[in-house]
Amino acid sequence: PPSRPREQAAARLGLSAPVTTLSGIKEAFAEKFARLGVTTIRDLLQLFPRRYDDFRRLKLIGQLEYGEEVTIIATVWEAGVRRTRGGAQMFQAVLSDDSGVIQCTWFNQAYLLDKLTRGTQIVISGRVEEYMGRLTFQNPEWEPLDKELLHTARLVPVYPLTEGITNRWLRRVMKRVVEYWTPRVADHLPASVTQPAHLADLGMALRQVHFPEDWDDLNRARKRLAFDELFLIQMGVLIQRQAWRSEQGRALEFDLAAVEQLVAGLPYLLTAAQRHALDEILADLRQAVPMNRLLQGDVGSGKTVVAAAAAWAAMQAGAQVAFMAPTEILAEQHARTMANILGERATLRLLTGSTPEAEKQMIYGELAEGKANIVVGTHALIQAGVVFHDLGLIVIDEQHRFGVQQRAALRQKGYLPHVLVMTATPIPRTLALTLYGDLDLSLINEMPPGRQKIETHWLFPTERERAYTFVRSQVSKGHQAFIICPLVKESEKLKARDMEVKSAVEEYKRLKQEIFPQLRLGLLHGRMKGEEKEATMGQFARGELDVLVSTSVVEVGIDVPNATVMLVEGANRFGLSQLHQFRGRVGRGTAPAFCLLLADSGNATSDERLSAIETISDGFALAEKDLELRGPGEFFGTRQSGLPDLRMAKVTDVNLLELARAQAEKLFRADPGLKAPEHQLLAERVNRFWSGEGDIS
Ligand code: ADP
Ligand code: MG
Repeated sequence: PPSRPREQAAARLGLSAPVTTLSGIKEAFAEKFARLGVTTIRDLLQLFPRRYDDFRRLKLIGQLEYGEEVTIIATVWEAGVRRTRGGAQMFQAVLSDDSGVIQCTWFNQAYLLDKLTRGTQIVISGRVEEYMGRLTFQNPEWEPLDKELLHTARLVPVYPLTEGITNRWLRRVMKRVVEYWTPRVADHLPASVTQPAHLADLGMALRQVHFPEDWDDLNRARKRLAFDELFLIQMGVLIQRQAWRSEQGRALEFDLAAVEQLVAGLPYLLTAAQRHALDEILADLRQAVPMNRLLQGDVGSGKTVVAAAAAWAAMQAGAQVAFMAPTEILAEQHARTMANILGERATLRLLTGSTPEAEKQMIYGELAEGKANIVVGTHALIQAGVVFHDLGLIVIDEQHRFGVQQRAALRQKGYLPHVLVMTATPIPRTLALTLYGDLDLSLINEMPPGRQKIETHWLFPTERERAYTFVRSQVSKGHQAFIICPLVKESEKLKARDMEVKSAVEEYKRLKQEIFPQLRLGLLHGRMKGEEKEATMGQFARGELDVLVSTSVVEVGIDVPNATVMLVEGANRFGLSQLHQFRGRVGRGTAPAFCLLLADSGNATSDERLSAIETISDGFALAEKDLELRGPGEFFGTRQSGLPDLRMAKVTDVNLLELARAQAEKLFRADPGLKAPEHQLLAERVNRFWSGEGDIS
């Protein structure tokens, strides 16, 4: 309870009070807590345990067995500090109960001398170790028997830590905070939601997630907290969708015959799925409601041409089009493709980070005056300098790399422009509805005719030579190959990107000098300048290079029909959908194509992934598999998707997803503006959650 002035002030601020207002938490801890993402008391309650040690098994000393995790209650028989030969201090105590004695050792904790004096009754929890043929405990958790047990004899929370914050200390702090605050936490979910969904009340859930009595308690707590995250996402998505739809957009008037003319001029017929998607988009563009549509289609299903036809429709109506891609290489490629398809219909500009300043200024001018009617680019498009004369349509490629905020930023460049988002990551339907519920869905679920299945082989490291021989034989037939370098984990000294570049450069040299001295090799990585990349890509596309060695930057979108081999090094380090993306780079021509996956090591899961991609060629089936094999959040990485962090919810929990969606829809129907007094707290929570605070209490 608040006693000192500092705590009284904190009580007024409530959960938003800084953690340093808690007694015993000095200013110096602010920085340490910040490293754990904790600033306020609310954040602290949100700092969920990483795991729990189950120390509920009580045993007598005489019954202990090597290796088990147990708890004993014993009396200190004798205790003392010794020095090891290395000079470290070692506190040792001999403990006894009616059944026997056992020695315990703690390193560098001489202060225990004052605490564990002879005759003290203590509780010890930990793993039973063996030393010189005798059972012992080393650095076990302990606490005096006379107080409420926090570290022993229960499900003990184990928190994520940082330097200067120990579990023992944090548990004590947490216990106080939980005791005081959880009864005072106001539940933002109305009973009309919690009751039908059988959810624990928020205060109870927060209490039990930290100090559960048993696993059932913990599961109930987790369910409630996970539900909250999914529910808040749903509410946010529903509110966004409604806000978007209630705005007056601009109905674009275009001549359908002219669009048909563009389509008829293509060197191929649109597939039925492309046709259907295009019709849906064109219908949207004619409406005064701003379009907000997700175009989903596997790699190579032909999304770009659909976007190009839509762009032409918008341009005819006198509007400008912005086309945003996640990387420069992709932006460059899209610019080429769009220019190809649109021809004289378009005055197209390319705007990326490496566009020279003078040219940038010129493009800004042309866009502001409406002289350029389509601009393709990267994030550069959302820079402040970019002003449009009349932006009518935004196309965003590769949805999951752009956040909700970036979408919004681009939107603000136009007077409520229509938005088309394209993704090649097939998202299972439930998930799509939850994560992108603010978007309408179009699906290209069919490949252009004549595409062959890409023969996929998973090879052991020992078969690398075979892979190289195969590359040589394909090149001798006039074809080309991609070689993807492994992903690199971030190290202390170098950022992942830099390490990736370094290792790609080395691999390139090795391949060029030792493996393929007679072939023409090119290198592509993320630290190259725009022109360099462009030049290399161009060479590869024109067939002037046989092999393109690349970091994962070519992951999406590059289109070279003559390339027939995709060799992925360190394949086990990539996710399934990423591998599928790589594979989609080949098989775009008429010749048979191959994907060779070289694993540099393996564990059970990556093996399962690699054998899945060997046998499954359908992107959706693979996505389902990926979702099944990968853990929470990892499917896309929620950070990349621009969604608030999911701490508790797993996107794989379809039942909970559906429960949250159903409840959110019900509540939204009843009170779309969250105006009812009993929805006030919820309205605030939704705001806070979507404004990036990402907390849930
Ligand atoms: P996505 O962006 O969906 O991965 P693209 O739009 O890059 O796919 O198209 C892949 C390739 O297929 C391109 O070379 C494109 O010209 C070609 N293509 C697109 N639609 C068709 C079609 N209906 N028939 C034949 N080829 C097509
Ligand atoms: Mg594409």
